[in-house]
Amino acid sequence: MCEKRGVPTVDSLVQDSENTVGQKPNEHCAVVGFYGTDGAFDWIYTSLRTLQHRGQESSGISIFDGSRINTVKVMGLVNEGFKSSVENGSIYSKLGGNIGVGHNRYSTAGAKDLSGAGPVTVSSLLGELALSHNGEIVNQVELREELKKKGITFQTQLDTEVLLMVLSREISEKGLKNGFKNAMSLLRGSYSCALIINDKLYAFRDPLGIRPLIFGKVGNNYIVASESSVVDVLGGKIIRDVEPGEVIEFFEGEYKTILNVPSMRTAHCMFEYVYFSRPDSVIDNVEVYNARILMGRQLAKEAPVDADVVVPVPDSGRTQAMGYALELGIEYSEGLFKNRYSERTFIMPTQSLRSNSVKIKLNPIKSAIAGKKVVLIDDSIVRGTTMRYIVSILRSAGAAEIHVRIGSPMIIAPCYLGVDMKTRDQFIALNKSISDINAEIGSNSLAYLSLEGLKESIGLGPKSLCLGCLTGEYPVKIKGEKYTQQTALESY
Ligand code: SF4
Repeated sequence: MCEKRGVPTVDSLVQDSENTVGQKPNEHCAVVGFYGTDGAFDWIYTSLRTLQHRGQESSGISIFDGSRINTVKVMGLVNEGFKSSVENGSIYSKLGGNIGVGHNRYSTAGAKDLSGAGPVTVSSLLGELALSHNGEIVNQVELREELKKKGITFQTQLDTEVLLMVLSREISEKGLKNGFKNAMSLLRGSYSCALIINDKLYAFRDPLGIRPLIFGKVGNNYIVASESSVVDVLGGKIIRDVEPGEVIEFFEGEYKTILNVPSMRTAHCMFEYVYFSRPDSVIDNVEVYNARILMGRQLAKEAPVDADVVVPVPDSGRTQAMGYALELGIEYSEGLFKNRYSERTFIMPTQSLRSNSVKIKLNPIKSAIAGKKVVLIDDSIVRGTTMRYIVSILRSAGAAEIHVRIGSPMIIAPCYLGVDMKTRDQFIALNKSISDINAEIGSNSLAYLSLEGLKESIGLGPKSLCLGCLTGEYPVKIKGEKYTQQTALESY
């Protein structure tokens, strides 16, 4: 149970939480590829809207029109950025053709403008290329320097451009299959990609399968996407995941595997199951919704509370909270209202506007909270400012007790593989005990799901997941960090 502490007021937490309430770590990107007989634009546009949760900063679509690749990039949400050109139909004269790739981006650094938007395109000895990439190339600086020495110039600071240049050079020199193979041996990190080379589409994934990639069929058209929910939304049939290390070519109405690079293990990002992916997606044969229910059930077994009501942090804690409530037979209640129209944070000029802009995002439903022992569930805690704020507003709403339960283990280390958790000092769990964190967020008790519990809930077996941000041990070599291949097999 918690140590006694002063109850923080909402206003005292506003400054602290001003830019973080409701915020979660972000994925870098969503990837879409299309090869078919229909016009590609409508399908890619709908797919990108379906994957909006994986990147909201900018979007882009590249389509091969039979002789060249044309690209349109926009800032903001997909339907906002493309709105006028879709409404007046002008987009169809710019983006005609039936082979294309699309991209949603969230950036963590650098210019937040169209220069950072995907897909990345290049004209090379191979012809025209357009690449949509989800992930992060860990050794991009070294590769960029090497390529520069060979006279290659870069237009952006994006690791995606490095990936594209490495691929283009290797394929030009060694042919398609050996070029991909060589590029994969040079590139370190995570990459799930859709690539147009002239009139062909390729889908490929790094040998550890860190970020998801799936493909399916809708009528005569093939769709490649970061998540299976895209194929469902389009009314298609899922074929399968692109395997880790696999390169698939789509051409003349058929698809074929042209390369399969073997790997001793996989390293699927556990955060896809915990938070990033839509619950209606199936990733590497695991349904995300079911995995989250099992996380909640397991959390209830490991850290039960004799409580009156289970309340999720909307929307991130919802499925784990349902699992928790089901396991213990406790009432589940949506005790926090989240204003879905207040997603974007602006810089407010006055303290009262700042205060209101935070309060407007979340509001407790008093009848669900007042006088009750509440189990408050979220999928993860990164900085802790959001959780501290939510505990404070539940107290203000009259909760008798607040027991925080988290559906994943403590985040203690950065991610170098495609998620914007870059520095250790941002983590509330760094160098703190559970009771320290409990005191800091002001809850009566706090518990996290165990590492074993998480692995069991996802159910992919040993040596299948990346757990780098939970353990500090990564599946690929990262300067200054531990590398899991160097540890005994049974230790992860
Ligand atoms: S370090 Fe964490 S967030 Fe990054 S890929 Fe690995 S599990 Fe996912």
